[in-house]
Amino acid sequence: MNTIVEKILPVSSVKPAFERPALEKILSPLEDFAGRSEHLFPTSVRNGASPPPMPRYFYLGERGGGDVFRLGIFAAIHGDEPEGALALNRFVTLLERDPEIARGFALFLYPVCNPTGFEDGTRHARGGKDLNREFWKQSSQPEVRFLESEIYLHAFDGLVMLHSDNTSEGVYGYVNGSVLSESLLEPALRAAEKFLPRDRRPVIDGFPARDGIISRSFEGVLRSLPGLERPPFELTLETPQGAPLHLQVEAAAAALQTILQEYRPLRSFAQNI
Ligand SMILES: [Zn+2]
Repeated sequence: MNTIVEKILPVSSVKPAFERPALEKILSPLEDFAGRSEHLFPTSVRNGASPPPMPRYFYLGERGGGDVFRLGIFAAIHGDEPEGALALNRFVTLLERDPEIARGFALFLYPVCNPTGFEDGTRHARGGKDLNREFWKQSSQPEVRFLESEIYLHAFDGLVMLHSDNTSEGVYGYVNGSVLSESLLEPALRAAEKFLPRDRRPVIDGFPARDGIISRSFEGVLRSLPGLERPPFELTLETPQGAPLHLQVEAAAAALQTILQEYRPLRSFAQNI
């Protein structure tokens, strides 16, 4: 900070050298698109104890003639990982250009799952917790309770979680839930690899990994209701946080697009066996 300016002005009016994007600013492309799109609807909700609203958007693709598949896409549950929110902006831009990508899908988009942490630039929420360790354990965190109710109500066919990892030099991901998950993550990682290398270490984040795919997870992560007889697919995609931002954004958006493209044929195949 410029110390001369600091002496003249009260600290609160001095802008820091690097500014994190404000919550409204990071959401403005989605808001703009929602204002002119027939497909995208802003449905953000004020959420009990947390002052900033929980951003939520609903994208209804063109009818596909068959089942409508419901996907939940969740970003920035760690407040210091804005990359996922930016990737969702980019993804929606791709949908705007080519609505065919989302034909037959209803997409529930949660670009900033941790609004207070996002505002503060911290992994944890203002309540002091890592929200991504609080799921399905009767957490008192309002963000977790809200997201759990969304997951419960919408009965998603699939959940995709976007993260960025400052200890990794490549893209990788976690699979849970349906057996389809791994068949979706592999092509998604291949799509992401057009922009960034894949993390092929045998151990990532303390878990055994194979070609960038981890089949375990930390307890309490954002995921579907445990114990379902037919669980949805669950993918967590991690981009290397030290890589150039635009490449992380492109990699994650390409992975999302690929997941939509691959899901329908995989699902029909799975139903026919
Ligand atoms: Zn994270």
